[in-house]
Amino acid sequence: MDKIKVIIWGFGAMGRGMAQMLLMKKGVEITGVCDLNPEYKDKNFLEVLKMTSTEHDEVKIDDDIDRVLKKGADIVLLATDSFTKGAYDKITKIMSYGMNVISTAEEMAYPYANEPELASQLDHLAKAYGVTVLGTGINPGFIMDLLVVALTGAMVDVTHVEAKRVNSLSPFGPTVMHEQGVGISINEYHKRVMDGTLAGHVGFKESVGMIAAALGVKLEDFQQQMEPIITSIDRKSTYGEAKSGTLAGINMTGQGLINGDVFINMIHPQQIEPEMEGTETGDYISLKGTPNIEMQIKPEINGGIGTIAMCVNMIPHVINSRPGLKTMIDLPVPRAILGDMRDLIEA
Ligand code: NAD
Repeated sequence: MDKIKVIIWGFGAMGRGMAQMLLMKKGVEITGVCDLNPEYKDKNFLEVLKMTSTEHDEVKIDDDIDRVLKKGADIVLLATDSFTKGAYDKITKIMSYGMNVISTAEEMAYPYANEPELASQLDHLAKAYGVTVLGTGINPGFIMDLLVVALTGAMVDVTHVEAKRVNSLSPFGPTVMHEQGVGISINEYHKRVMDGTLAGHVGFKESVGMIAAALGVKLEDFQQQMEPIITSIDRKSTYGEAKSGTLAGINMTGQGLINGDVFINMIHPQQIEPEMEGTETGDYISLKGTPNIEMQIKPEINGGIGTIAMCVNMIPHVINSRPGLKTMIDLPVPRAILGDMRDLIEA
């Protein structure tokens, strides 16, 4: 069997990490890379990564996605967007070339939550083209949703769900820094909250929607809140900088309600370099029911590596899937692939 062919669309922090991971895996090759960054134009992607490989001499970074897609692939890893609206045209273009898609867009982890019409169109088109579309990442896509759902598999009854992720934004690229307002003043924070341009964490509605769908409960209401995390010292990460007195990140909270009570509670303070001011990272899931379950992972699962790995590790499951728009609760559980990736492809 030929190697599994992969195209990467979006060569930012996540796309580059996926390329590095793919180069370490057996049975898979990168056939094309697309990014608009003029600094990358016509460079071999290996040169940007400062890596070598005997097999990818011809793969230059191209800003013309049609030219890249014409090279052919089994699947495209799309790492350009956070919102379904932004990713939609890109996903439909990929599908029109008969290729499967894995998107890092947070809203694509459960697009039915915020964009039900676009989600049903994507499902319809994917079936028409005979391909599969999946949105995934560390969160949404794993920690505050799939992991919660998996733990409930050992429960007879669930009366309350709480997921808390205290994490570092440092591994993420400029897109996330902008969405989280890293480095902006408190005045700018209030201005962007007022004019609706500060997203904060994108994904609570998706995670809450995925958990509710998985458990078969109907939520009456969903709400979320955000608070700035102000740093009292200068902080710097690869892609973000927050001077003392500005935003190091945002603390988001969210709730899914049934009968006026909170059934799903989400707590997610995110900031660059949290350790610099004594914040210890960690992932915590607390489930009430029969039996109660408490899960604690300290420090957090690294969000950058986690997102990169989730996307790459889901490649065979997406290729094997029946066509359509899928979410992480539809496909086999993610697992690290230590052997040849082709061994996981069903005949
Ligand atoms: P980044 O800003 O480092 O990279 C984005 C890249 O996409 C840039 O290089 C940019 O030039 C390129 N790009 C944008 N539009 C393009 C287009 N039309 N054609 C070609 N290239 C284009 O961001 P990142 O950290 O790599 O993250 C990528 C996206 O994934 C972000 O929107 C981020 O919010 C999301 N994300 C989700 C999760 C999750 O857990 N679900 C985790 C990490 C990142």
